[in-house]
Amino acid sequence: MSHSSSYGIAWPKNSPVAVSLTFDVDAEAGFLGDSPTFAKRLTSLSEGRFSVTRGVPRILEMLARHQIKASFFVPGYTAQQHPGLIETLLKDGHEVGHHGHMHLRSDKASAQQQVDEMHLGLEALARAGAPKPAGYRSSSWELTPETFDLVIDNGFTYDSSCMGDDRPYVETFNGRSIIELPVHWSLDDWPMFGWSIDNGGNFTHPRTLSEVWLAEYESARRDGRHTSFTMHPEVIGRAARFAQLERFVERLVSDGDVWFARLDEVARHVAPHLEQQR
Ligand SMILES: [Zn+2]
Repeated sequence: MSHSSSYGIAWPKNSPVAVSLTFDVDAEAGFLGDSPTFAKRLTSLSEGRFSVTRGVPRILEMLARHQIKASFFVPGYTAQQHPGLIETLLKDGHEVGHHGHMHLRSDKASAQQQVDEMHLGLEALARAGAPKPAGYRSSSWELTPETFDLVIDNGFTYDSSCMGDDRPYVETFNGRSIIELPVHWSLDDWPMFGWSIDNGGNFTHPRTLSEVWLAEYESARRDGRHTSFTMHPEVIGRAARFAQLERFVERLVSDGDVWFARLDEVARHVAPHLEQQR
């Protein structure tokens, strides 16, 4: 893959920095897509379910309080299992993006499974009342050539799975390209807090999140960059961690000049600037 950078983009309202809060509502699909054996592991499934029962409501309350619109990437299976979820997200003005169907990692899925992930995910979101999604985010951020083609063939405006720059750029593979709103593991709650009985993980002190992310925010502000943060409601929605997210968001809000934007808004804004690079 190759890319070109997007320096010198001015943000709406003369904001010196653009920030997107993004949430991947993996829920039960996060486990079932990893292994069908989780169908018999009720405790793990309940940990996934916490995403929707407790995590999402906490997040929506906080976003509404600060009048921030965010991007939610929802596997089709999550939309099916939790009727009303998509409707609630849309009612509050948030973006619903594509995040597969069973949350299968594309690098571990066959070509046909990748096609199914794309189409079943699209169908489930549509059935739940979502407009055709503008954005795609691959499960666990693994993107294969086959899925890259599917994202372009299905007319997505942007992808948010790659890490080739720290600002919006054009991701290119085999002569085809798409606007990339990049991600990074350091800007994701999972590596800090994710833990499983099978593979272990980390129980980082919650304050680490606000410290690391504030450092990223300050650097984005200095550069005049867009940056985005990725969270999982079952991870960030635990109360002590959520308190640190609230502290982080309150700090940004207090600066008074941050452009908080959904990723589809960012993609629309940067598209004319990036067009010449495609
Ligand atoms: Zn995910």
